[in-house]
Amino acid sequence: MTPTDKLAFVGYPPLGLDENSFDGVLVSCTFTWDKGICEDIARQWRFHYPDKSVSVGGPAYGDAGENFTPCLFLRRGVTITSRGCPNRCCMAGQREGNIRLLPIMDGYEVQDNNLLACPPEHIARVFAMLRNQPFRPRLTGGLEASRITREIAREIISLDPECLYTAYDRPGQRESVERAAAIFKEVSGWSKSKIKTRISCYTVGGYPGDTREAADRRAHEIVTFGFRVWAQAWRGEDGKVDPEWRDWSGKICTMGGK
Ligand code: SF4
Repeated sequence: MTPTDKLAFVGYPPLGLDENSFDGVLVSCTFTWDKGICEDIARQWRFHYPDKSVSVGGPAYGDAGENFTPCLFLRRGVTITSRGCPNRCCMAGQREGNIRLLPIMDGYEVQDNNLLACPPEHIARVFAMLRNQPFRPRLTGGLEASRITREIAREIISLDPECLYTAYDRPGQRESVERAAAIFKEVSGWSKSKIKTRISCYTVGGYPGDTREAADRRAHEIVTFGFRVWAQAWRGEDGKVDPEWRDWSGKICTMGGK
């Protein structure tokens, strides 16, 4: 997702950068456990370019994302048309508050937290924008299964998406994910293998209160519903995965053909 232009860097300042080619430096930090290294990177920029302004921010610092500038922190083609989420099951909903609509910028990879929680007119405008892109849509931000209706599924299928993702993290989501799978199967007319190639389902394992047995069951159910499973192990505040869960996502992602 990282921008690929000449003035986007990962890690410490590069050697031989022309001072006149930039005005200031923005260090973007996504994960809280990377704050230490990001602050060190900012120190290095200040040391090498004392006349430039250098700031650190991003999701790790609670930045609620007031706007979205294409290509600034995400590579060309990625777009965000809304911030926030009406739910509170992850940091996105807590940090960014309720859903806020942004101006729709061109892109084919939609990274909204919860696009389907937006008003229907906004969703329709996003789909219209996607029809005008040079590449097939990638709905990787995640579509909340309980909001998938036949009408929405028909619209999505008509976009001929390269991929789309939903999520099944908590036991209470089972019914809606199964229902969404049945809707996509009915509406798309796609073969089982095409559905598995195009539609994936995220699942997180190992969060407080989760068990290996319950997480394995969710993953198996996702495969049974016909989706490809994308498993991720829960990380604590320090960014570390519990040793007992380290091998889990690798095993699960190969299940049913990754
Ligand atoms: S629906 Fe998705 S984006 Fe919204 S709070 Fe839950 S996990 Fe986060």
